[in-house]
Amino acid sequence: MTQIGNGNSRHSVVLPDGTEVTLAWAAATDTGLRRAVNEDSFVARVPLFAVADGMGGHAAGDFASAAVVTRLAEHGGKSSIGTAEIDGALKLAVRDMGRGAGVTDEGSGTTVTGVALGVIGDEPAWIVFNIGDSRVYRLVGGVLEQLTVDHSIVQELVDAGQITREEAETHPHSNVITRAVGFHEAPIPDYRAIPLQEGMRILVCSDGLTKELTPYGIRHFLISGRSPEQAVRQLVEAAVGNGGRDNVTVVVVDVLRVVRPSTTDDED
Ligand code: MG
Repeated sequence: MTQIGNGNSRHSVVLPDGTEVTLAWAAATDTGLRRAVNEDSFVARVPLFAVADGMGGHAAGDFASAAVVTRLAEHGGKSSIGTAEIDGALKLAVRDMGRGAGVTDEGSGTTVTGVALGVIGDEPAWIVFNIGDSRVYRLVGGVLEQLTVDHSIVQELVDAGQITREEAETHPHSNVITRAVGFHEAPIPDYRAIPLQEGMRILVCSDGLTKELTPYGIRHFLISGRSPEQAVRQLVEAAVGNGGRDNVTVVVVDVLRVVRPSTTDDED
Protein backbone atom coordinates (compact mmCIF):
# COMPACT_ATOMS: atom_id res chain seq x y z
CA MET A 1 0.00 0.00 0.00
CA THR A 2 1.43 3.34 -1.04
CA GLN A 3 -0.14 6.68 -0.13
CA ILE A 4 1.05 9.78 -1.93
CA GLY A 5 -0.19 13.26 -1.13
CA ASN A 6 -1.97 14.74 1.80
CA GLY A 7 -4.74 12.55 3.12
CA ASN A 8 -6.70 15.65 3.98
CA SER A 9 -6.18 19.00 2.33
CA ARG A 10 -7.46 22.11 0.58
CA HIS A 11 -5.83 23.92 -2.27
CA SER A 12 -6.42 26.58 -4.94
CA VAL A 13 -4.95 26.25 -8.41
CA VAL A 14 -5.02 28.46 -11.49
CA LEU A 15 -5.58 26.45 -14.69
CA PRO A 16 -3.77 27.40 -17.94
CA ASP A 17 -6.90 29.25 -19.15
CA GLY A 18 -6.88 31.48 -16.03
CA THR A 19 -9.71 29.70 -14.20
CA GLU A 20 -9.11 29.57 -10.46
CA VAL A 21 -10.27 26.33 -8.85
CA THR A 22 -10.46 25.63 -5.13
CA LEU A 23 -10.56 21.98 -4.11
CA ALA A 24 -10.84 20.20 -0.77
CA TRP A 25 -10.15 16.50 -0.45
CA ALA A 26 -9.51 13.56 1.82
CA ALA A 27 -8.29 10.03 1.23
CA ALA A 28 -7.94 6.84 3.26
CA THR A 29 -7.26 3.16 2.77
CA ASP A 30 -7.96 0.14 4.97
CA THR A 31 -6.77 -3.46 4.65
CA GLY A 32 -10.24 -4.73 5.57
CA LEU A 33 -10.98 -7.85 7.61
CA ARG A 34 -10.07 -10.73 5.30
CA ARG A 35 -6.87 -9.79 3.49
CA ALA A 36 -3.44 -10.08 5.07
CA VAL A 37 -1.97 -7.16 3.12
CA ASN A 38 -3.24 -3.99 1.53
CA GLU A 39 -2.44 -4.00 -2.21
CA ASP A 40 -4.36 -0.77 -2.95
CA SER A 41 -2.54 2.53 -3.42
CA PHE A 42 -3.63 6.10 -4.00
CA VAL A 43 -2.34 9.50 -5.00
CA ALA A 44 -4.17 12.64 -3.86
CA ARG A 45 -2.18 15.61 -5.03
CA VAL A 46 -3.29 18.45 -7.33
CA PRO A 47 -3.91 18.07 -10.26
CA LEU A 48 -4.49 14.35 -9.89
CA PHE A 49 -6.52 12.00 -7.69
CA ALA A 50 -6.26 8.28 -8.41
CA VAL A 51 -6.69 4.83 -6.88
CA ALA A 52 -4.90 1.64 -7.96
CA ASP A 53 -5.87 -1.89 -6.84
CA GLY A 54 -2.97 -4.29 -7.33
CA MET A 55 -3.23 -8.00 -8.04
CA GLY A 56 -0.86 -10.85 -8.67
CA GLY A 57 -0.23 -12.46 -5.31
CA HIS A 58 2.66 -12.14 -2.86
CA ALA A 59 4.22 -8.68 -3.12
CA ALA A 60 3.39 -8.29 -6.80
CA GLY A 61 0.06 -6.51 -6.45
CA ASP A 62 1.36 -4.06 -3.92
CA PHE A 63 4.36 -3.35 -6.13
CA ALA A 64 2.17 -2.81 -9.20
CA SER A 65 -0.26 -0.38 -7.57
CA ALA A 66 2.67 1.51 -6.01
CA ALA A 67 4.39 1.79 -9.41
CA VAL A 68 1.29 3.37 -10.97
CA VAL A 69 0.60 5.98 -8.30
CA THR A 70 4.31 6.83 -8.06
CA ARG A 71 4.52 7.53 -11.81
CA LEU A 72 1.26 9.51 -11.79
CA ALA A 73 2.47 11.51 -8.78
CA GLU A 74 5.43 12.76 -10.81
CA HIS A 75 2.92 15.17 -12.37
CA GLY A 76 1.92 16.49 -8.94
CA GLY A 77 2.32 20.21 -8.51
CA LYS A 78 1.35 21.09 -12.09
CA SER A 79 -1.79 23.15 -12.59
CA SER A 80 -3.29 20.67 -15.05
CA ILE A 81 -2.38 17.62 -17.11
CA GLY A 82 -3.72 15.90 -20.20
CA THR A 83 -4.19 12.38 -21.53
CA ALA A 84 -0.65 12.30 -22.98
CA GLU A 85 0.88 12.68 -19.51
CA ILE A 86 -1.42 10.01 -18.07
CA ASP A 87 -0.63 7.60 -20.93
CA GLY A 88 3.08 8.26 -20.45
CA ALA A 89 2.96 7.67 -16.68
CA LEU A 90 1.12 4.36 -17.13
CA LYS A 91 3.62 3.13 -19.73
CA LEU A 92 6.51 3.95 -17.39
CA ALA A 93 4.70 2.13 -14.56
CA VAL A 94 4.40 -1.04 -16.68
CA ARG A 95 8.12 -0.83 -17.39
CA ASP A 96 8.84 -0.39 -13.66
CA MET A 97 6.74 -3.48 -12.89
CA GLY A 98 8.91 -5.56 -15.22
CA ARG A 99 12.06 -4.55 -13.41
CA GLY A 100 11.41 -4.39 -9.71
CA ALA A 101 11.16 -6.56 -6.65
CA GLY A 102 7.57 -7.53 -7.42
CA VAL A 103 8.39 -9.41 -10.60
CA THR A 104 6.88 -12.89 -10.83
CA ASP A 105 6.51 -15.36 -13.72
CA GLU A 106 2.85 -14.52 -14.19
CA GLY A 107 3.60 -10.82 -13.89
CA SER A 108 1.87 -8.27 -11.77
CA GLY A 109 -0.87 -5.83 -12.56
CA THR A 110 -3.21 -3.28 -11.16
CA THR A 111 -6.34 -1.34 -11.89
CA VAL A 112 -6.13 2.42 -12.02
CA THR A 113 -8.83 5.04 -12.06
CA GLY A 114 -9.11 8.68 -11.18
CA VAL A 115 -9.56 12.28 -12.23
CA ALA A 116 -7.13 14.95 -13.37
CA LEU A 117 -7.67 18.70 -13.68
CA GLY A 118 -7.42 19.84 -17.26
CA VAL A 119 -8.74 22.26 -19.85
CA ILE A 120 -10.71 20.69 -22.71
CA GLY A 121 -11.39 23.13 -25.53
CA ASP A 122 -11.85 26.33 -23.52
CA GLU A 123 -13.58 24.66 -20.61
CA PRO A 124 -12.07 23.62 -17.28
CA ALA A 125 -12.76 19.92 -16.84
CA TRP A 126 -12.03 16.74 -14.98
CA ILE A 127 -10.37 14.20 -17.20
CA VAL A 128 -11.70 10.85 -15.97
CA PHE A 129 -9.53 7.83 -16.72
CA ASN A 130 -10.03 4.14 -16.04
CA ILE A 131 -8.52 0.69 -16.49
CA GLY A 132 -10.12 -2.19 -14.54
CA ASP A 133 -12.90 -2.20 -11.96
CA SER A 134 -12.03 0.58 -9.56
CA ARG A 135 -14.51 3.42 -10.05
CA VAL A 136 -15.13 7.16 -10.23
CA TYR A 137 -18.50 8.64 -9.26
CA ARG A 138 -19.78 12.19 -9.12
CA LEU A 139 -22.40 13.64 -6.82
CA VAL A 140 -24.12 16.75 -8.19
CA GLY A 141 -27.29 18.15 -6.62
CA GLY A 142 -27.78 14.95 -4.62
CA VAL A 143 -27.64 12.76 -7.74
CA LEU A 144 -24.96 10.06 -7.81
CA GLU A 145 -23.59 9.01 -11.18
CA GLN A 146 -20.96 6.38 -11.94
CA LEU A 147 -18.55 7.95 -14.45
CA THR A 148 -16.44 4.89 -15.29
CA VAL A 149 -17.44 1.59 -16.86
CA ASP A 150 -15.79 -1.50 -15.33
CA HIS A 151 -13.55 -3.65 -17.48
CA SER A 152 -14.79 -6.91 -16.04
CA ILE A 153 -16.41 -10.21 -17.00
CA VAL A 154 -19.58 -9.35 -15.09
CA GLN A 155 -19.85 -5.90 -16.75
CA GLU A 156 -19.73 -7.68 -20.14
CA LEU A 157 -22.46 -10.09 -18.99
CA VAL A 158 -24.58 -7.13 -17.80
CA ASP A 159 -24.03 -5.30 -21.11
CA ALA A 160 -25.08 -8.45 -23.00
CA GLY A 161 -28.25 -8.68 -20.91
CA GLN A 162 -27.26 -12.09 -19.52
CA ILE A 163 -27.27 -11.05 -15.85
CA THR A 164 -28.65 -8.11 -13.92
CA ARG A 165 -26.53 -5.54 -12.11
CA GLU A 166 -27.65 -7.06 -8.80
CA GLU A 167 -26.61 -10.57 -9.91
CA ALA A 168 -23.22 -9.16 -10.95
CA GLU A 169 -22.37 -8.32 -7.32
CA THR A 170 -22.61 -11.98 -6.22
CA HIS A 171 -21.41 -13.60 -9.45
CA PRO A 172 -18.55 -16.14 -8.97
CA HIS A 173 -16.45 -14.21 -11.51
CA SER A 174 -17.13 -10.80 -9.99
CA ASN A 175 -13.40 -10.29 -9.34
CA VAL A 176 -12.18 -11.04 -12.87
CA ILE A 177 -11.15 -7.94 -14.81
CA THR A 178 -10.62 -7.81 -18.57
CA ARG A 179 -8.17 -4.91 -18.70
CA ALA A 180 -5.28 -4.02 -16.38
CA VAL A 181 -2.11 -1.98 -16.11
CA GLY A 182 0.70 -4.51 -16.25
CA PHE A 183 0.97 -8.16 -17.25
CA HIS A 184 3.34 -6.92 -19.98
CA GLU A 185 0.44 -5.31 -21.91
CA ALA A 186 0.16 -1.76 -23.23
CA PRO A 187 -2.08 0.15 -20.80
CA ILE A 188 -5.16 1.53 -22.59
CA PRO A 189 -7.35 3.77 -20.43
CA ASP A 190 -10.89 4.84 -21.18
CA TYR A 191 -11.05 8.62 -21.06
CA ARG A 192 -13.93 11.04 -20.73
CA ALA A 193 -14.10 14.70 -19.81
CA ILE A 194 -16.72 16.14 -17.49
CA PRO A 195 -17.24 19.83 -16.74
CA LEU A 196 -15.87 21.24 -13.52
CA GLN A 197 -18.86 22.47 -11.52
CA GLU A 198 -18.90 24.35 -8.24
CA GLY A 199 -20.41 22.18 -5.55
CA MET A 200 -19.70 18.86 -7.21
CA ARG A 201 -18.21 16.00 -5.21
CA ILE A 202 -16.00 13.34 -6.80
CA LEU A 203 -15.50 9.85 -5.37
CA VAL A 204 -12.62 7.62 -6.51
CA CYS A 205 -12.60 4.15 -4.94
CA SER A 206 -11.43 0.56 -5.19
CA ASP A 207 -13.86 -2.37 -5.50
CA GLY A 208 -13.46 -3.03 -1.77
CA LEU A 209 -15.97 -0.18 -1.36
CA THR A 210 -18.37 -1.00 -4.20
CA LYS A 211 -18.55 -4.72 -3.29
CA GLU A 212 -19.70 -3.83 0.23
CA LEU A 213 -21.99 -0.84 -0.42
CA THR A 214 -24.82 -0.38 -2.91
CA PRO A 215 -25.02 2.86 -4.90
CA TYR A 216 -27.77 3.87 -2.47
CA GLY A 217 -25.37 3.41 0.48
CA ILE A 218 -22.56 5.25 -1.28
CA ARG A 219 -24.86 8.18 -2.03
CA HIS A 220 -26.08 8.23 1.58
CA PHE A 221 -22.58 8.60 3.03
CA LEU A 222 -21.46 11.07 0.37
CA ILE A 223 -24.40 13.30 1.28
CA SER A 224 -24.24 12.86 5.07
CA GLY A 225 -20.47 13.39 5.32
CA ARG A 226 -20.24 17.17 5.31
CA SER A 227 -16.49 17.43 4.77
CA PRO A 228 -14.51 15.14 2.46
CA GLU A 229 -12.79 13.79 5.57
CA GLN A 230 -16.13 12.85 7.19
CA ALA A 231 -17.40 11.24 3.97
CA VAL A 232 -14.20 9.21 3.53
CA ARG A 233 -14.26 8.01 7.13
CA GLN A 234 -17.93 7.01 6.98
CA LEU A 235 -17.52 5.17 3.67
CA VAL A 236 -14.47 3.20 4.83
CA GLU A 237 -16.11 2.34 8.17
CA ALA A 238 -19.28 1.18 6.41
CA ALA A 239 -17.37 -1.02 3.94
CA VAL A 240 -15.35 -2.65 6.72
CA GLY A 241 -18.49 -2.94 8.87
CA ASN A 242 -20.31 -4.72 6.03
CA GLY A 243 -17.66 -7.43 5.89
CA GLY A 244 -14.47 -5.79 4.72
CA ARG A 245 -13.78 -8.66 2.31
CA ASP A 246 -11.23 -6.65 0.33
CA ASN A 247 -8.88 -3.70 0.76
CA VAL A 248 -10.91 -0.47 0.76
CA THR A 249 -9.59 2.80 -0.65
CA VAL A 250 -11.62 5.99 -0.89
CA VAL A 251 -10.74 9.46 -2.19
CA VAL A 252 -13.33 12.27 -2.02
CA VAL A 253 -12.70 15.60 -3.77
CA ASP A 254 -14.98 18.64 -3.44
CA VAL A 255 -14.96 21.42 -6.04
CA LEU A 256 -15.51 24.39 -3.72
CA ARG A 257 -15.07 27.27 -6.15
CA VAL A 258 -14.60 27.76 -9.89
CA VAL A 259 -13.82 31.37 -10.88
CA ARG A 260 -13.49 31.95 -14.61
CA PRO A 261 -11.10 34.70 -15.77
CA SER A 262 -12.85 37.99 -16.45
CA THR A 263 -13.16 38.75 -20.16
CA THR A 264 -10.79 41.38 -21.57
CA ASP A 265 -13.76 43.37 -22.96
CA ASP A 266 -14.49 45.11 -19.66
CA GLU A 267 -10.91 45.83 -18.77
CA ASP A 268 -9.88 48.75 -21.00
MG1 MG B 1 -9.88 -4.89 -4.73
